[in-house]
Amino acid sequence: MSEPDIALQLEDLVMHFGAVRAVDGVSLTIRQGQVLALVGESGSGKSTVGRCIVRLLEPTSGVVRIAGADVTHLSRRQMRQYSKNVSIVFQDPGGSLDPRMLVGDVVGEPLRLQEGRRMSRRDRAARVSEELGRVGLRPEVARRYPHELSGGQRQRVSIARALISSPTLLVADEPTSALDVSVQASVLNLLADLQHDIGFACLFITHDLSAVEYLADDVAVMYLGQLSETGSRERVFAHPAHPYTQSLLAAAPIADPPVQRARSRVLLGDDLPSALDPPSGCRFHTRCPLAFDRCATEVPALLAIGDGTASCHLVHADGTGPDVRLTQNARSPA
Ligand code: SF4
Repeated sequence: MSEPDIALQLEDLVMHFGAVRAVDGVSLTIRQGQVLALVGESGSGKSTVGRCIVRLLEPTSGVVRIAGADVTHLSRRQMRQYSKNVSIVFQDPGGSLDPRMLVGDVVGEPLRLQEGRRMSRRDRAARVSEELGRVGLRPEVARRYPHELSGGQRQRVSIARALISSPTLLVADEPTSALDVSVQASVLNLLADLQHDIGFACLFITHDLSAVEYLADDVAVMYLGQLSETGSRERVFAHPAHPYTQSLLAAAPIADPPVQRARSRVLLGDDLPSALDPPSGCRFHTRCPLAFDRCATEVPALLAIGDGTASCHLVHADGTGPDVRLTQNARSPA
């Protein structure tokens, strides 16, 4: 099943590393030109989803479709065509750029691999200059090495390299979280502007809910390898249905640090359980303020709720249910 306006479709994606169930049945869709934020805590499996999409990992099972084509089991030769359609920007630009290559060669490398002799060096250099300009860097940066640049500039180089082959889909894996706070906003603005101007689809992987609110059309919330809630950004932020989404929103950074610390402790004080041995029933039941007997034994179905889905025994088909944000005091530390 595929539709022309769908940029990415994941069907029941599973990625196990031995006994570790990092991703356990994730299905989602991104339409052409849309941004979907995949949100979750560290260890939720969201980066593993991104790596399966760009085939840095071979999924254990499930289907990955890019622009309608099943790319789950491509041969090495077919990968070249595939890599034109999807690119990734990693969290740490320092680690993802080859320190021995000049920036111009780093940015031009996807074209060299994909076009080979069909594109002259001169044409490639011109495209590199153009791409550097588009991410706000001067052409002479092409003759520098990555270590000569600031963190923010290096991430701009990563973005230029990712976009030089005009991909249908960009996977942006925590693209600003390794950067100084002072440059995070400018890199985020750049990504938003480029996405708006060029119109590529984007899977934006993040734990930063404030960035989601700014960039995303849709949101998918991931907990211990599974999706707990999906929906439009407007609805998820205004009326989160799942207790985990409600907890994340209640714990999101706010201006007053002492208040923020207290809130986080109230709702998500315990660590994420291990994906080696996920809790039975609803995986969130060990931390959920609303958990009751059935939650520990019965896996909640992924229920369609208007503009998305939610998996919680207490959520109704119209998206209504209890609100953990109203029960904070019951869980406050003594
Ligand atoms: Fe909480 Fe139970 Fe809903 Fe899971 S199913 S989110 S434990 S109320």
